[in-house]
Amino acid sequence: MQAEGVLEGLDPEQRAVAEAVQGPVCVLAGAGTGKTRAITHRIAYATLTGVVSPQRVLAVTFTNRAAGELRGRLRGLGAPGVQARTFHAAALRQLSYFWPKVIGGDPPKILESKIPVVADAARTCRLSYGRTELRDLASEIEWAKVTQTRPEDYAAAVKLSGRKPPTDVVDVARVYAMYEQLRRERNLLDFEGMLELTVAVLTDHREVAAQVREQYRYFVVDEFQDVNPLQRLLLDAWLGDRDDLCVVGDPNQTIYSFTGASPDHLLDFTRDHPGAKVVKLVRDYRSTPQVVRLANGIIDQARSETSRRHKLELVAQRADGPEPLFHEYDDEVAEADDVARRARKLLDEGVLASEIAVLYRINAQSETYESALAAAGVPYVLRGAERFFERPAVREAVVRLRGAARAGADAETDGLGLILTVRHVLAGAGFTEEAPEGTGAAREKWESLAALAQLAEDMAADNPQAGLPDFVAELEERAAAQHAPTLEGVTLASLHSAKGLEWDAVFLVGLVEGTLPIIYADTPEQVEEERRLLYVGVTRAREHLGLSWALSRSPGGRRSRRPSRFLDGLTPKTATPTPARVERTKRQGRQGPQPCRVCGRPLMTAIERKLGRCEDCPVEMNEGLLLALKDWRTEISAEQRVPAYVVFTDATLQAIAERDPDTLEELAQIPGVGKVKLDKYGEAVLALSRDR
Ligand code: ATP
Ligand code: MG
Repeated sequence: MQAEGVLEGLDPEQRAVAEAVQGPVCVLAGAGTGKTRAITHRIAYATLTGVVSPQRVLAVTFTNRAAGELRGRLRGLGAPGVQARTFHAAALRQLSYFWPKVIGGDPPKILESKIPVVADAARTCRLSYGRTELRDLASEIEWAKVTQTRPEDYAAAVKLSGRKPPTDVVDVARVYAMYEQLRRERNLLDFEGMLELTVAVLTDHREVAAQVREQYRYFVVDEFQDVNPLQRLLLDAWLGDRDDLCVVGDPNQTIYSFTGASPDHLLDFTRDHPGAKVVKLVRDYRSTPQVVRLANGIIDQARSETSRRHKLELVAQRADGPEPLFHEYDDEVAEADDVARRARKLLDEGVLASEIAVLYRINAQSETYESALAAAGVPYVLRGAERFFERPAVREAVVRLRGAARAGADAETDGLGLILTVRHVLAGAGFTEEAPEGTGAAREKWESLAALAQLAEDMAADNPQAGLPDFVAELEERAAAQHAPTLEGVTLASLHSAKGLEWDAVFLVGLVEGTLPIIYADTPEQVEEERRLLYVGVTRAREHLGLSWALSRSPGGRRSRRPSRFLDGLTPKTATPTPARVERTKRQGRQGPQPCRVCGRPLMTAIERKLGRCEDCPVEMNEGLLLALKDWRTEISAEQRVPAYVVFTDATLQAIAERDPDTLEELAQIPGVGKVKLDKYGEAVLALSRDR
């Protein structure tokens, strides 16, 4: 592409950014206004006009995915060869290059996780912690290192920042000091150490600094509102006394303060770089006026000093779209079921699965959505989190439950018995009745175990006679479905990991007090950060936006929750009908367990209920139909690029082959064949059935 062509896709302010090819530039702008677009075009324009050669440019961002996105966009603009990296990747590269020259000897090993060394440090200090506490300690040490707080200053720094330490401050400081000592003795380098060391080498070795500064002379940083003090130091070391730096960011999207980041670096940019050109962008190219109005409404209520000073009202550029939809549900299962149904509807209307996202506040919320989407036949991908059934806490709990089932732990139970037995086993894995105080790993683990306890309650409500073996079978079935590799799918992601991204349709779920703002957001600043998270979420949507919450956690529970305070005054007056409520009642209304269609005995396991008979009851099965169904499923899943289980699970195919349905009504009776699947595949299945 020619240089002038690069400028054509920009509005006048974005163009001003691109044309300001030299000197310090700061772009302060709201979500979706084209900040990322402006900087990629600026780099392309500068390289195409010969202001700087592509090899001398370093574009920095915060996640590998964002770095990949930058590289892709630059390539598309005819500026390949530009380095686009995360701070860590850039530091690691420089360090490994200079290590033999300036330090020599064995280079340190990079520590992927602090936890093993933190564990040793705690032991050396004669302190004993569980796995989750160790993880919280590791995060706390990370915060201290990012904010350049030494162990001896830790207690004072905690007090000053108003943060809640994971355990006694004196103990944290001792473990921190010991961690540093052990790390040095063992020649290990953590991520913060890597940045610190790179800064030190650049500061202490003039020839190294000269070489690095010769290599890179043109710097661009995206999402600068979330830069932390350590990254800032590194950036300053790269720059030296030069000022070819362009930063872009949005103070209203600061969502990483808890790890030590601060928007002050962005807001004080002109103080640090006098003469910087400041450009503000206000036109929102991403979202419809309906979405933009809501985003403006949320940020309008922001109470922090920073937000008040830097209120940027977004001006929508796109054509009208649908109004954002607000939905209230009785419980979380109903909420997830209905979101899955609405996602399905969008797919049927032609929206691509990869253009839909479900965003939540904490990763533990994903399980309900993983299940609901799998049940509705909607493929999904998880971003930035382990799949629910792959989390260590969940894996451990499932192993324990399986062991207990094998040992016959619930010989005498009824519906209540199942719930109690499961809770008892989970207690052995660390589950408590009340959620633990504070943030971090302990809380996350508790949420995961609580989700399992919840599943047991759901199962007991559906089938009061279900026992522990049924529950374990159900978990295994879910795990199998959710472990299946997914291809193109709906994105499930936390609000934090959605930064910088965009989708045609976004569902913001679980918007209740206690989840957003999160229960442990105590200080006004922490609450404001939660509000910004909602703003980030809303502004990810191009066109369709759904916001929802559930009044109780579990079906049949007390409807005592309140929608997020951030929605006050923004939710339309008219109550939103919740179709899921009706469906749910119907589902729950099914009295007692389903009987075996062969012998009439009540069905005990999830698989049996799906088959509609006891596993060992004799049945006639149309084997030819089963084979034909399996072939057909392989074809359909390949054609639709979805995993096979999304079309029908094995148990459902088997049940179809056994009953050999002649009509759509008969097919609809088979568990696993909901309305959506009936509409989609009903005729094809009946045709196969007729042929055999
Ligand atoms: P965020 O704050 O969420 O990171 P951003 O300010 O970086 O957002 P971009 O991702 O660069 O915004 O742009 C948002 C969307 O608007 C993108 O799809 C982009 O291609 C489009 N866009 C931006 N500027 C223009 C323009 N001048 N003309 C057409 N489309 C544009
Ligand atoms: Mg961006």
